Amino acid sequence: MICSLYVHVPFCAGLCDYCDFFSVAVGRGDEALMDRFVEALLADVREQLEFFQVEQVPTVFVGGGTPSVLGASRMERLLGGLAALLARRGVGEFTVEANPESADEDFLRSCRDGGVNRISLGVQSFHEPSRRAVHRVGEGSLLSERLELVSRYFPGAFSVDLMAGLPFQNETILLCDIERVLAFEPAHISLYSLTVEPGTPLERNIAGLSLPPGDEADAVWLAGRDALEAAGFEQYEVSNFARPGRQCAHNVRYWRMENWLGAGPAASGTVIAEGAASPFGRRYTYGADIAAYLSRHGSSAHVEELDRDALIRESLLMGFRYREGPDPAIFRRRFSRSIEDYIPQTIARWRERGFFAACPGHAGNLAPSGEGLLFLDGFLRDAFAELGHSVSG
Ligand code: SF4
Repeated sequence: MICSLYVHVPFCAGLCDYCDFFSVAVGRGDEALMDRFVEALLADVREQLEFFQVEQVPTVFVGGGTPSVLGASRMERLLGGLAALLARRGVGEFTVEANPESADEDFLRSCRDGGVNRISLGVQSFHEPSRRAVHRVGEGSLLSERLELVSRYFPGAFSVDLMAGLPFQNETILLCDIERVLAFEPAHISLYSLTVEPGTPLERNIAGLSLPPGDEADAVWLAGRDALEAAGFEQYEVSNFARPGRQCAHNVRYWRMENWLGAGPAASGTVIAEGAASPFGRRYTYGADIAAYLSRHGSSAHVEELDRDALIRESLLMGFRYREGPDPAIFRRRFSRSIEDYIPQTIARWRERGFFAACPGHAGNLAPSGEGLLFLDGFLRDAFAELGHSVSG
C-alpha cells in the first residue's frame, strides 16, 4: 500500500486566540513529557506501517502544534527514528512546520541533516498590533532574522504562512508583509483568511476586538492574492500559492483523497480500499489527549467507516479546492463513473457561470478558475443537492 504520513506534534510555546488545532502550551518543565512523546510517536508510526503493510511513503508532513518547540536534539531523535522506519519506502517530500521563535539555527540544521527537504514557517504577520490582538506568540522583530536563516538552510525549499483579516490589518499592511516575505524568496506561500472557529478564545473575545467586517477582510485577502500572482506565484488551491512546480505534494494528496496515515494526538488518517465491488474507506482519529496517547496510542483512535456515498462527497469537497480539480482517472477508478455522470446539471449551470477554467496539460479535468474558487461553497451546495438525488436514484 502507498500512504503518506502526517505526524502531529501537539505542543506550542503559547496558544493563539484563533487556533482550533489541538495543542498545549509547553515550557521548561515539560522536557520529559516531550521526550516520552517522541518515543510514543515512533512506536505509533512503526505499528501503523506494519499494520497497513505500507510499502511506499511518498510524502511526510510533521505539523502541529509547533514541531520546532521540540528543539534540535529531540527533533534529531524523531527524524533519526523516522528515517530508520521509512528507509526504502521512497520518501520524496519531507516537510516540517516551524515557528520563528523556536526555529533557531540548531533546529534548522537538525532538520536539514535529518532528511527534511521543506520547511513551512508560520509568520502570519509582521504587524505587532495584529499579532498582539490575537496573542500570536513570538516577537515580530525576530521574523526577518528567522526567515533569513530558513532561506539559508532551505534555499528555494520553504513555505511561509500569512494571514489576512487580522485585527488592525488593512491592505497596505498585508501587502507590506508580502513584500517583506518575498525578499527571502520562498517557493510557496499560504495565505489564510482569519476564521472565527467555535469554542476558540477569539470567538469568546470577539466583541472587544476590532475585526474588519467580512467584505473588508475579503478585500484584504484579494489584494494579497493579486500581489502574489503578480509576483509569479500560482494560486493552486483556495489558500495556497506556489512558484511553478513547487506545490506542496503532501497537501495535494489530501485534496486527491489519496491514502495517508496520521500519528499523534488528534491526528487522523484515511485509508481507502479500491478494487472491491464498492470502494470503502476507513478514517481513524486519535483523541485530543496526550496522556491517553502516551499510554495506549493505537487503541485510543476513533474509527469511522466511509462508504461509497461519503467517499464521493469527500472527493468532490476536497478535489474542487484544487485548481486542477478532482483527478478524473482516480474518480472513475474508484466510483466506476465520471464526475459528470453524478452531477451533470451542477456542472452545466456552473460552467455557464464561468466556474471552470482550461487546465493546461489536463484538458479532461473539471478545474475551477481562480474567480470560481471564490464561489466554491455555492458550487458544492448545488453539487451535494444533485448528488443526493443521483446516489439515491
Ligand atoms: S502556534 Fe500554530 S498551532 Fe500553536 S496555537 Fe498558534 S496557530 Fe495554533
